[in-house]
Amino acid sequence: MNPFNVVHSAWASLAEPRPTKIDAMLAQRTLKSISKAVGVGLHSGQRVELTLRPAQPDTGIVFRRVDLPQPVDIPINALAVTDTRLASTISNGSAKVHTVEHFMSACAGLGIDNLYVDISAEEVPILDGSAASFVFLLQSAGIELQRAPRRFMRIVKPVEVREGQGAQTKWARLDPYHGYKLSFEIDFDHPAVDSTGQRVEFDMSSGSYSRDIARARTFGFTRDVEMMRANGLALGGGLDNAIVMDDYKVLNAEGLRYDDEFVKHKILDAMGDLYLIGKPLLAAYSAFRSGHALNNRLLRELLSRPDAYEIVTFADDKEAPKGFAQPARAW
Ligand SMILES: [Zn+2]
Repeated sequence: MNPFNVVHSAWASLAEPRPTKIDAMLAQRTLKSISKAVGVGLHSGQRVELTLRPAQPDTGIVFRRVDLPQPVDIPINALAVTDTRLASTISNGSAKVHTVEHFMSACAGLGIDNLYVDISAEEVPILDGSAASFVFLLQSAGIELQRAPRRFMRIVKPVEVREGQGAQTKWARLDPYHGYKLSFEIDFDHPAVDSTGQRVEFDMSSGSYSRDIARARTFGFTRDVEMMRANGLALGGGLDNAIVMDDYKVLNAEGLRYDDEFVKHKILDAMGDLYLIGKPLLAAYSAFRSGHALNNRLLRELLSRPDAYEIVTFADDKEAPKGFAQPARAW
């Protein structure tokens, strides 16, 4: 039996979902209440307030710049990503929000579909440099199941993007998989990174996003930080929101949170970048030295290949891949 309830695909016209038993279907999720955070932007160093508000089914995740004379909504969308240098930026006209990836990763990890994210400046606060604070923020508001089926983007044909030659090669790809798993390999020639795992695989069916991925912090090198600061970037960055390394070692007194924290952060970033497509993927993602730019190119390539995916729902959550049916576990 086909476990998928296909509501739209390249070859089937827009069909209504089968009538669903509300109790059993895999439902969309929003928050039960409002949640707020205050922090600074990693690059801008600006103070910023974030207010997360519940949203109706099928709203998606919508950032709202509430500091502008007229508030501007910026719905997430792979094509709304306009800058991928250092971080993922989304735009609507001249209104922008920078560094959305860690927040989006937490939303992907907890399976949040619908949310308003009111933001008082143009960069998401960096908080502790990982997605852990966002996970905490979302979970403290409580997760509400909604009376609408969750729509997944199911990959049915491989999609791949590549860049560079020889030692400069980078690639990222999506393959069909009944579930969602990610494998990432980095290749940093640095003593502190070399001594840690440079490849990791994470499967959502483990139910351990919050524990195993969300706490991995962003990282940087002092020489780059100095150069970025000279260019007005990384102004909010420091040892309390990033792993910082000189040419030889990690400078943070507390050391690493995971033995393979670097590559785990790349998985965290990829989950955030990929969730900008606006729907959870059913796919196996694999990547070598990818980053925000290539991850977004992969989404654009996918969208340009309607034969490579279909939109599915699950009328019975028992047929959904493991890890998606239950509201995400806390730590
Ligand atoms: Zn990151």
